[in-house]
Amino acid sequence: RPAVTFDNVVFGYEPDRTILHGLSLEIPAGSKVAIVGPSGAGKSTIARLLFRFYDPQAGRILIDGQDILGVTQISLRKALGIVPQDSVLFNDTIGYNIAYGRDGAGLAEIEAAARGAALGPLIERLPQGFETEVGERGLKLSGGEKQRVAIARTLVKNPPILLLDEATSALDTRTEQDILATLNAVSQDRTTISIAHRLSTIADADAIFVLDQGRLAESGTHAALLRRD
Ligand code: ADP
Ligand code: ADP
Repeated sequence: RPAVTFDNVVFGYEPDRTILHGLSLEIPAGSKVAIVGPSGAGKSTIARLLFRFYDPQAGRILIDGQDILGVTQISLRKALGIVPQDSVLFNDTIGYNIAYGRDGAGLAEIEAAARGAALGPLIERLPQGFETEVGERGLKLSGGEKQRVAIARTLVKNPPILLLDEATSALDTRTEQDILATLNAVSQDRTTISIAHRLSTIADADAIFVLDQGRLAESGTHAALLRRD
């Protein structure tokens, strides 16, 4: 059973302008896939539909075989973890930023949970520990460090599906590669959907979906797509 299915999805933000023109795609459970395509192709729209910020005008979206129209927001949020491009951190400790939403947990407990979720490699690359204050009053983190905290914050909830919406696109390619490598190491069985625009960053994906003007232009492995041109 696929982790995510788009079945002939038609969607537009405005009634007279269709953005997704009957989009169909299947993301196998446990796979690492990338959705690429030019700006405006509809990549982020896919993320917004998955979270039900909007619903399609036609077609169906399934998560783990279930039509998301019949799934509660709470279950949806447990199933899907998202990391956006510009994660906003709280002016608080790294630990609190990671543990936000884990009610009443102490820092030691959070750190244990993070390590339990195999986040060690992500956290060890941060300059200071969990108790470090970040933001306006504290340590100013680099873009890459900020995204590491944001990824850890999402992974600590252990969502079966991880959605990276241009999560590393604003970083230099070296930092991006570094983060993606640690991410690979900590999320083996997790379905990972990476929305990106640089083809170089998703070379290892099991499948790449190329979106163009709301249609699936091509799909396949990186090698297969390169052979085709
Ligand atoms: P991508 O992520 O591939 O850059 P998006 O999914 O963000 O593309 O946008 C696809 C299209 O939908 C674009 O033409 C964009 O202008 C339009 N669009 C995005 N958000 C809205 C919105 N809230 N209202 C109207 N049009 C929108
Ligand atoms: P701005 O661009 O005005 O700093 P952001 O949207 O980037 O605003 O940040 C929103 C919040 O995240 C602010 O409260 C800010 O303190 C915090 N923040 C921003 N950048 C960092 C950073 N590099 N490290 C830690 N916290 C940050």
